[in-house]
Amino acid sequence: MMDFSYHRPADLAAAGAAVAAGGTPLGGGTGLLDLARLGVARPRAVVDLSRLPGLDAIELTDTEARIGATVTMSRLAAHPAIRAALPAIGQALLASASPQIRNMATIGGNLLQRTRCAYFRDPSFDACNRRNPGSGCAAIGGVTRGHALLGTSAHCIATHPGDLAVALVACDAVLECWSPEGQRALPLHDLYRLPGATPDREFALAPADIITGLRIPLTPAARRARYVKLRDRASYEFAAASLAAGITLDADGRVADLRVALGGVATIPWRARAVEAALIGERPTPAAIAAAAALAVREAEPQPDNRHKLALVPALIERTLEELLGDAA
Ligand code: SF4
Repeated sequence: MMDFSYHRPADLAAAGAAVAAGGTPLGGGTGLLDLARLGVARPRAVVDLSRLPGLDAIELTDTEARIGATVTMSRLAAHPAIRAALPAIGQALLASASPQIRNMATIGGNLLQRTRCAYFRDPSFDACNRRNPGSGCAAIGGVTRGHALLGTSAHCIATHPGDLAVALVACDAVLECWSPEGQRALPLHDLYRLPGATPDREFALAPADIITGLRIPLTPAARRARYVKLRDRASYEFAAASLAAGITLDADGRVADLRVALGGVATIPWRARAVEAALIGERPTPAAIAAAAALAVREAEPQPDNRHKLALVPALIERTLEELLGDAA
């Protein structure tokens, strides 16, 4: 039996104060309950944010979508205007978790989900710098098929487990946060910290920050983006590799805009900027796409069990970009 107190704040100020005092934020509970059962999370106080007023709206204008932090994954995935305007978002949500989890999990909680590294989730392994700072990393030298090749450090090689965040990063989503100093916005990409020497510091949030929502620009590339997930079984499985990609061409047939973000292979939702830079302004011939796709793993540092992803990732990018261009022709 775990002993903890439960708080349901009435407004953002009370929520921020409770979290700043050491409370653990609760959205749908799908992540926290899991980790508490495993003995990884031991909250002393749980701060239920799921019923804060004003955070459950989905709104679209001609130029952007705004999604409240307490919207559930299933509600967002089923929203007709979101599916039409931002197809990669709907695809990423439906490729995530199970219907039961999507019915409970909130968008804010989904963005803050913890890694699925088996050593992190099993407290019988002492060595985990993410769980016990300074204790080492049991994964390095262990079983590493699901670990990262990109953004790793000598202190942690855990993979970011999300799908939605990958699609959102490709779409240049902006996170909205409340704090006692006021509202602030930060690019979603900047929420995620590379592990470096402090893998326990996963998110660029201050103690009293409360995520209130997201804004997603409705650019032509985002409107045509696609999310593709490769995994060992067809449902309820994390990505072996995933890709969110969107591409537009100018009147001359050259690449005007390109978004490429990777999941399942990096420590954070990974924007493949080198791939984008190599193709923007160029004609997307098969040879040009292949050369650009190879750049996605140029900086990769594979582990013994995940070297196959050095070939998997470029192949996924090539195939998806060719399909997107074929659809547009
Ligand atoms: Fe912990 Fe990261 Fe090592 Fe996994 S990879 S055991 S999360 S330090």
